Parts: sequence; C-alpha cells; structure tokens
Amino acid sequence: MGTPFRELVGLCESLEATSKRNAMVSMVSSFLRRLRPEEVEPSVSMILGRAFPKWDQRTLEISWTTIANIIKRLTNIDWKIFIEAFRQTGDIGDATKIVFEKSKVKRQVTLLEKPLTILEVRRIFEAIAQACGVGSREKRERLVETLLGKASPIEAKYLVKIMIGEMRTGFHEGLMELAVSKAFNVPENIVQRAVMMRGDVGEVAYMAKTGGKEALLSLGFRVFHPIKPMLAQTAENVEEAIKEHGGKTAFEYKLDGARIQIHKRGEEVRIFSRRLTDVTASLPEIVELIRREINAKEVIMEGEVIAVGEDGSPLPFQHLMRRFRRIRGIEAVSKRIKLQLFLFDLIYLNGESLIDLPYIERRRKLAEIAGRISLTKQLITGNPEQAQKFLEEAVNAGHEGLVAKMLDSPYTPGIRGKKWFKIKKTLEPLDLVIVAAEYGYGKRHGWLSDYYLAARDEETGEFLVVGKTFKGLTDKEIIKMTKRLKEMAIEENARGVVVPPKIVVEVAYNEIQKSPKYKCGMALRFARITRIRDDKTPEEADTIQKVKEIYEKQFEKKARLA
Ligand code: AMP
Repeated sequence: MGTPFRELVGLCESLEATSKRNAMVSMVSSFLRRLRPEEVEPSVSMILGRAFPKWDQRTLEISWTTIANIIKRLTNIDWKIFIEAFRQTGDIGDATKIVFEKSKVKRQVTLLEKPLTILEVRRIFEAIAQACGVGSREKRERLVETLLGKASPIEAKYLVKIMIGEMRTGFHEGLMELAVSKAFNVPENIVQRAVMMRGDVGEVAYMAKTGGKEALLSLGFRVFHPIKPMLAQTAENVEEAIKEHGGKTAFEYKLDGARIQIHKRGEEVRIFSRRLTDVTASLPEIVELIRREINAKEVIMEGEVIAVGEDGSPLPFQHLMRRFRRIRGIEAVSKRIKLQLFLFDLIYLNGESLIDLPYIERRRKLAEIAGRISLTKQLITGNPEQAQKFLEEAVNAGHEGLVAKMLDSPYTPGIRGKKWFKIKKTLEPLDLVIVAAEYGYGKRHGWLSDYYLAARDEETGEFLVVGKTFKGLTDKEIIKMTKRLKEMAIEENARGVVVPPKIVVEVAYNEIQKSPKYKCGMALRFARITRIRDDKTPEEADTIQKVKEIYEKQFEKKARLA
C-alpha cells in the first residue's frame, strides 16, 4: 500500500499551525524524503493546493457550488451550520470539516475499508479531469462524491481545499523549492533553475529524488513544455526606468492584449497563455501565421495578441477574452474578432536556450526569424523627452503604455524584477460613492473589505453601481471602514451591508467596459481605491454621465466592434 493521504493531511495541519519558515521547510523535506518516487510529484502539487502539476493542461472543472451540493448530499446537514462555520473560520476547508464532523449520516467507514492513499486521490482527480462528453458532469460529480465519501472530516477539509485551489497554509512555491533542495541534497540555485526550465516544482522534486543533482543540471528547455514568463515591475514614469537601467533603455509599446508563449517544432505549433494553459485551439489563425512566417525549425518565443477593429486599431480587452474562452464556433468568432500578433522575445532557438543572452541580442535574432510578423514597436533612448513622446504616442494609438527593457538583461523566467518596467498611463480617476460592502475572505473574513462603488445619475439622482473592488485600502483603513459602514448600515445580512450613499472614494481603473452586470450597463475594469475622499460630499462625486463620457472617449483611440 502507498502512503496514506492522511499523512499528507497531517503535514498540512502542521504547516497551518506554524508560521516559522525553517520549521515548515524541515517538515516538508522530511515528508518528501519518506515518499515513494511516484508519490513525490502528486504530493508536492497537493501540498501547494493543486490537483495537477502547474504546466499540466488538465483541470477538474468542478465549481464550489457543485462541491457544496455534494457535501449537502453526503452529510444531510442543515446548510446553516456550514454558513455559520464559514463565518467563524473564514475558510471553506475548515467549514467542510465541521459539517463532516456534525453530520447525522453514519458513514460506512468499516474496519475493512482501506484508507485513502495519495496515489488514489491523484487517480480520482485524473478520472475527474478525463470525464468528458455526454454525461460528463454527472460522471465528475459521482467521482467527487466517491472521493469525499471515503474521506474522514479532516481529509475532506484538504480535498476540498485542493479542489478549489485554496490551500492557505502559508507554504508557497518558494519554500517548496527550499524543501526539495533540503530533501534531496541539491543546491537551492540548481533546484530554482530546474523549476524555471520545467515550470513545475513537483516534477523537479521527482527528478531530484530519482536522479539527484545531475538530473537537474542536465535539464534544458523542451519545446511544448511552457516555461514561466518573465514579469515586469511598475515604474512611475519614463525617467525612473531610464535611471534604473543605467541611463539608457529599450522602450516598447505595452499592448493591452494577451501574452502568449509560442512553441514550434517543424510544422507543429502550440500556444500557451500567460498562465501556461494550452490555448492553441482558440487561435487557429495565429497557428497558421506562425507556420507560414517563422523561419526556424524549433523555437519558443513570446508575443502579445490583441483584438483589432476594421481599421486596425485595438478593440477593448473584453472582446479578446471572448476569443480565448471560446472552444466551439471558433471560425465564426474569428471572422468577427480579428487578432493581431506582435512578437517581443525569443527564448529558445534550434536546440539552444537564449535566456542568458542580452535582451538586445535576443531581439535581433527574433527579428531575423519573424518573417512578416511585426515585433512590438521599440525605441532605444536615454532621453526622457523622447521617451515621454513615445509613451504619449502609444497611449494615443490605443495601447496601455510602455514596457522598458534593460538592454543587457537576460530573460529571467517567473521573476518580477527591475529588468523590465511597465509604465502605464491610467485614465483619470473617478470619485465614487460606496453603497454596499461585503465581508472578505481568509484573513479579511470579519471585515467589510469588498466595496460596491456607485456614480450619481444626474437625471434621477439615483446612485448606480459601476464597479466593485477589494483593492487599495490598507488593513487599518479597512478596519476603520468596517466600523463606519456597520454603524450606518440600512440593511445587514451574512454577506455584508447596504449603506446610504455617503462615503466618497477616489478610484483608479484601467478601462470602462460594457457590462450587463450592473443596471447602468458599464463596469470599471481593475478598479482600486486610491484615496478616501472625506473632503467630498456624495453630491460632488462623479456622475454616471461623466462615466459614460469617459467610456465613449475611449473609442477615440480604440476600435468598436461593429
Ligand atoms: P502586467 O500584466 O500589468 O504585469 O504587465 C505585463 C504584461 O504586459 C505582460 O505579461 C504582457 O502580457 C504585456 N505586454 C504588452 N506589451 C508587452 C511588451 N512589449 N513586452 C512585454 N510584455 C508586454
């Protein structure tokens, strides 16, 4: 028999109970050492709250609502008990454990029944992910029911946490790298490099256990195995980027699209999203373009796709997302929503990793193989005025801003460092009024931390919601705000409060989208509170008419979908 799942659960409980990093790393490393090789990757994934390795394309496709219905069936419990448990703990896993414990149904766990093993849990996850076609929903639900039916309350807690992807033990990927390094005696930097190459620490842990340091050192990139993308930090302005990059830098247009990682070997092309999901099937015309234009046998490269209107100017982001979500009827929608690809980096070429080459060299090689595909527009300069003009030009062309890339920087997968800066020009902030608030999650579960923001309709005087956000306020501010909102609540329930429109906040956002979600038909994208404006009365706040005006103004730069 393999290692029982309850041992992994015990480990997670101990992790949850401490916040000492060293202690956590030691516990996990000795656990990993005890496992059989084939249990290593599944365990690492589950400890990190994942059913599968990171780059794996399989998903469980099980919503919390579905899981909740199954728990109701299995425990036959009054759901109010769950809600109350959730309010007290702020954690779906803990609440699940409590209802399992209080369940009136005598579950048939007999002495003869074998305990769940780690591998058995993985096998059931695999079966859930594989269920497809007619009746697949029922099949998946039956499998989840079987799994939870075999679980003890504490096992159920963690199964649910893994299924909804919310482990919250505080043991993150960086610590897992340390644990793997310690468990299998491989220096930390070699583990990190291997994770960069493979994109998943679970797979690396397995290799470390079976092949040691040598196995990890011999790793190279493999086409069709996505790697973590390099990320950018925010710079306030072009001056900061120039200064940080030593007096001169390469500015590129920051396109408001979707990042894709393109892998090609011969005629075969696969495309991965920023989150490393395979999106090849959604982008047939891009696949075709790559086959036709790219002049290399084997490549891994990166670019941004944007949706464009008839005149070639960018369409709002929401139309692009529709293309990515689409699985059926791609042909019809690809006629309506045209895509354009801009390439910006080359990571691997004909058997060779290019990540250690300077940016400028990689870009030169990229230009050589790109055929007629455009690269992102670029300006190399140390002159702030020129850079500022380039930024205005990008924004006026309907793009988000600029990315500044240090000329001699290597490509650092998965790292958000100072080698790349993003410089955005946000739209003018709005002063909006809080009309309702909901309790947060996890650490914020007793706090009203999710705010509904409204603008006044000049014609009717009504305050209409245009967005919702839990971003921007500090913990201290949230605690104070919770008190204020509770005192003025006109309606209060388990989810939160409704308040009269009194408190004005300044809100930044990236775009105003058309949306059926709210009565006014618009919604702010990426709203975040930048200031509490107690100096303003609700009458002085911005109006729906103003929001509408900004919405319309966006189309001076962006295209509209006909
Ligand atoms: P953010 O998502 O705000 O962290 O900004 C980084 C993102 O900008 C990347 O993940 C890309 O999707 C996107 N992006 C747009 N244009 C470029 C560019 N020229 N170079 C790199 N990233 C870009």
